[in-house]
Amino acid sequence: MNSSDTFVVVGAGLAGAKAAEALREQGFGGRIVLIGAEQHLPYERPPLSKGYLAGSAEREKVFVHPESWYAEQNVELCLDRAATGIDPAGRAVRLADGSEVRYDKLVLATGASPRSLSVPGADAEGVYLLRTLDDSDALRGLLAGIRRLVVIGAGWIGLEVTANARQAGVEVTVVESAELPLLRVLGPEVARVFADLHASHGVDFRFNASLSEIRTQDGRATGVTLGDGTVIDADAVLVAVGVSPNSQLAEDAGLRVDNGIVLDEALRSSDENIFAAGDVANALHPFYGTRIRVEHWANALNQPAAVAAAMLGQPASYDRLPYFYTDQYDLGMEYVGYVAPGGYDQVVFRGDVAGREFIAFWLSEGRVLAGMNVNVWDVVDDLRSLIQSRAVVAADRLADPAVPLAELAG
Ligand SMILES: Cc1cc2nc3c(=O)[nH]c(=O)nc-3n(C[C@H](O)[C@H](O)[C@H](O)COP(=O)(O)OP(=O)(O)OC[C@H]3O[C@@H](n4cnc5c(N)ncnc54)[C@H](O)[C@@H]3O)c2cc1C
Repeated sequence: MNSSDTFVVVGAGLAGAKAAEALREQGFGGRIVLIGAEQHLPYERPPLSKGYLAGSAEREKVFVHPESWYAEQNVELCLDRAATGIDPAGRAVRLADGSEVRYDKLVLATGASPRSLSVPGADAEGVYLLRTLDDSDALRGLLAGIRRLVVIGAGWIGLEVTANARQAGVEVTVVESAELPLLRVLGPEVARVFADLHASHGVDFRFNASLSEIRTQDGRATGVTLGDGTVIDADAVLVAVGVSPNSQLAEDAGLRVDNGIVLDEALRSSDENIFAAGDVANALHPFYGTRIRVEHWANALNQPAAVAAAMLGQPASYDRLPYFYTDQYDLGMEYVGYVAPGGYDQVVFRGDVAGREFIAFWLSEGRVLAGMNVNVWDVVDDLRSLIQSRAVVAADRLADPAVPLAELAG
């Protein structure tokens, strides 16, 4: 690396902006070009379904850095310009306007895109997705003026919008193909907590349901028809059925792609000059000994420091445990760790589950794989240590609030 090198970052979201920041922090003095398809400065998405959507968080707060930061740090921002191709042999990125940017090293931080539906009516007016600041603005205006909303998909985003909509006085029906919300991520024991939470706020869940169409009149959504013929009337429909990693650029460039861009533990792709971070990264995780791709804010925040180190020729390994959080009504929670779907054999609760003030632990063969603190705070570091210790713990001690978590980690 020398100061005449050019490092290019494609994707001006949280991971992209943090990659530029980490490179400067770690002493890179060369040219940095940050290329983004959206017209906005890099921003954080969690507020888009929480405080920003509710109108309680200011717009300025969502941006990763103020505009002046990029000039101060000598980061060239190319916004509103998608990268359309990569030439790994010639080390160049092609942009939608036909121009090319040469790179010495490249970071792909292209994130993920929401999945859409293929049922009739899916592209009607009044059918919403939520990924961008513009989507959140549109949804915010919508919630202020409608009476009934149908949400397709009881994942984190569907449920957070549902909570906001209920608090704005909108009637909400949530259509979910599984028998509980968040079932794949949490399993039935803890998924029930979220089902009860929303039911207590008047949400109408339709579980084990399929969608056969979005009903329309004059091109506008008027509700949905379920697979069993049930008709649900609504003024708008939110589709929140998960995201897919934006890995097409990488795939077209011949990089190894499998559920995102395949990376080693230093977040390097199958091309030694190309790295990736954030939602698009499917990286070897040293603690788990397997590749994982997580769609969490904390990952996009923290992976770039490891990417920058690797780009600068330093030893690098990204080994932080996955972490995420949610806020719904008066329930705030943090989750740390990772459990593959069905990958646990026991759930232990500590605290008051009915009163929604507890910690849940997912275990396999007596070892804690993940923990979730619900309306209980300042325990994430202890949870992290407990998971990393791989200690075998007795369920009764885990459930007992008198036993400090730090003691269980040994
Ligand atoms: C509404 C919402 C709420 C969320 N809430 C939480 C939460 O509470 N907790 C949590 O842990 N996580 C949450 N997440 C997830 C979190 O926001 C993501 O994990 C995070 O945004 C990932 O950051 P990223 O930089 O990898 O990708 P993104 O934020 O998706 O940014 C990628 C950027 O790259 C751009 N791009 C893509 N392709 C190209 C191209 N070819 N050329 C140029 N630019 C390109 C995209 O336009 C985008 O701006 C939420 C996400 C959403 C949408």
